Amino acid sequence: MSIVTAREMLIEATKGKYAVGAFNITSLVQLEAVVDAAVETKSPVIIQTSVKPSQFYKPAVMVAIYRSLAESAPVPVCLHLDHCTDVAYCKTCADAGYTNIMIDASKQSFEENIRQTKEIVDHCHGHGDISVEGELGTVSGVEDQIKVTEDEAQLANPEQSVEFVERTGLDLFAPAIGTAHGVYKTKEPKVHFERLEKVYQLLNGERVRVPLVVHGGTGLPPEYVERLIAMGGSKFNVSTELKYTLIDTTREYIQAHREEYDPGKVDAAVRDATRKVVIHWMEMLKSPGKA
Ligand SMILES: [Zn+2]
Repeated sequence: MSIVTAREMLIEATKGKYAVGAFNITSLVQLEAVVDAAVETKSPVIIQTSVKPSQFYKPAVMVAIYRSLAESAPVPVCLHLDHCTDVAYCKTCADAGYTNIMIDASKQSFEENIRQTKEIVDHCHGHGDISVEGELGTVSGVEDQIKVTEDEAQLANPEQSVEFVERTGLDLFAPAIGTAHGVYKTKEPKVHFERLEKVYQLLNGERVRVPLVVHGGTGLPPEYVERLIAMGGSKFNVSTELKYTLIDTTREYIQAHREEYDPGKVDAAVRDATRKVVIHWMEMLKSPGKA
């Protein structure tokens, strides 16, 4: 019951003026914590892995654990592959049972981005109901193996966005609007709200067709999040904050319990801290009660 595609989940969110958190996990403890938070708050949720953790656990193992947790959860849960630049690996994960795939060909030329994205859309739609996310423009910062400096970051062009969506047939669209991966260096990052609004009007003004994704959630001020939701953002990616929570909590626990050798207690501390961070995000996104 609880395994759905991101497309249907996010169309609902867009119409309801709330957003769904897409949380990048690198460990199974985090995966459990995210599902726990979703159940506790009755929120729909998206679990994400970037390519490296997915390769580390193997897609089939990741999918098996996801399915076992999601099937027994009373809330909808998706499993998404984040920022994959490798067409073949996108297909591997789709075939293994990921419910959504992000093909990130945003560093390629416009035509090549369209070609690769369409190839994944054709594959995913031909192999069941798998949603595909594509990106136009580039998000600065570091995500897994991809590095983009802020100078190189290019914003998505609204008219090109429409062409991109129409020619690829993708399900979820991530226009670059100035948000960044990692940690923002200033308290007021330059986010181009009007760019998101324009893209939203062109794509979804009359009827919600393609939900919009905001990358680089970590560190966005709450008022920015609220404004981005109002302008049509319905999937917010949160990665760095969960990594910091895992590392900092582990370090602090071990420092405070130097004589103890009980990994289960470290895991419990990480799970608890992660659950709190995720619930905080869900509240900002207004997803509690929406499952
Ligand atoms: Zn991203």
